[in-house]
Amino acid sequence: DELVSQIAAGEVVERPASVVRELVDNALDAGSTEIAVKLVAGGIRAIVVEDDGHGIPSDELPMALKRHATSKIGSLVDLESVSTMGFRGEALAAISSVAEVSIASRTADGPHAQRLDARSGELAPFARGVGTSVEVRELFFNTPARRKFLKSEATELAHCVEAVRRHALTRPDVSFTVWHEGKLVQQWRRADHDGRMRDVLGEEFIEHSRAVSIDMGVLRIIGRAGTPESARARADQQYVYVNGRFVRDKLIAHGVRSAYEDVLHGGRQPCYALFIEIAPDRVDVNVHPTKIEVRFRESREVHQGVKRAVEAALAIPKA
Ligand code: ADP
Ligand code: MG
Repeated sequence: DELVSQIAAGEVVERPASVVRELVDNALDAGSTEIAVKLVAGGIRAIVVEDDGHGIPSDELPMALKRHATSKIGSLVDLESVSTMGFRGEALAAISSVAEVSIASRTADGPHAQRLDARSGELAPFARGVGTSVEVRELFFNTPARRKFLKSEATELAHCVEAVRRHALTRPDVSFTVWHEGKLVQQWRRADHDGRMRDVLGEEFIEHSRAVSIDMGVLRIIGRAGTPESARARADQQYVYVNGRFVRDKLIAHGVRSAYEDVLHGGRQPCYALFIEIAPDRVDVNVHPTKIEVRFRESREVHQGVKRAVEAALAIPKA
C-alpha cells in the first residue's frame, strides 16, 4: 500500500509547487479568506500553508490523510458536477507518502487546536486560531531519485510563487502572502477582480491589454487580452481559468492564437488572462489528478467562443 501511495504521489506531486497548489486548493475549499504560504529552501525543506478556514474536527484529522478520504463528494451525482477544487481525496495521502507531514487544525466549536503528526500518528494539543496549518517537510526524503530531479532552490521557489499567483488571480476575495525563509516575497491583498488582475499581472500588462467580455449564454468569457505589441518570446503570461480552475488547454490556447493570427508574427506569444464560465455539465474537469486538463462536451463551441471573444477585444480601440 505504501508503494501504491508513492506511485499515486508521482502523479500528484512533481515538485514543491505541486504541494503548494494542493494545499492552497484545500485552504480555499475550506472557505478561507487569508492564506499564508511559508517556504524554506524553495519549498524543498519545508512548505507550511496556514489558513483561516473552517478547520477539521480533531476526530477527523486522521481521516484527512487516508487515500480517497474526501469530505467533498457525497454521491456519484456530485461527481458529475464538482464545484470544489479538490474532490479525489488523494492529495494529502500522496504528499504524506513522500514527505513528513503534520496537520494542525481548529474548528469554531473546538476547545483548542489539535496537531496530528502523520508518521507517528500522534495527536497533541496545539496553539492556533480557527483554521488549518499543514506542514510538509523534506519533500522526497524517501525517494532520493525524485529529489535529485528538483531544480535549484530559486527555481523551485519561483514555481511555488507561480502556483500561488494562479490561485490569486481567480480569488481576489482572498488575501495571499508568500514567505521565504522568514521574508515576505509576495503579497496580494483583498481586492475586486480588476484590482487583483492589476496586482497580479502588473500595471504594464493592464496598460497594454484590452478587456475581454463575451456572453454566449452557456459560455461566458471575461478577462484581458494583451495587445500584439505586448507579445513576448516566451508563453509565460497566459492564464486560463474554467469555472475558477486554472487550466492549460490546447483547444483554448489554439482559439486564442487564431484570434492573434493576422496581427502576431515571428512566433511571439500573446499575454492573456481569460476567465471562462461554462455550465458544469458541459465540462469534465476530472481528466487528470493534477486537474490542469479539462474536456469539453462541445469543443467547437468553446474554441469559437474564445476566438471571437479575443478578436472582439483586440478590435476595440484603446479605452
Ligand atoms: P480532497 O481535497 O480531494 O478532498 P485532500 O487529500 O486534498 O482531498 O484532503 C483530504 C480532506 O482533508 C479534505 O476533503 C478535507 O476534508 C480535509 N482538509 C484538507 N485540508 C484542509 C484545510 N486546509 N481545511 C479544512 N479541511 C481540510
Ligand atoms: Mg485537496
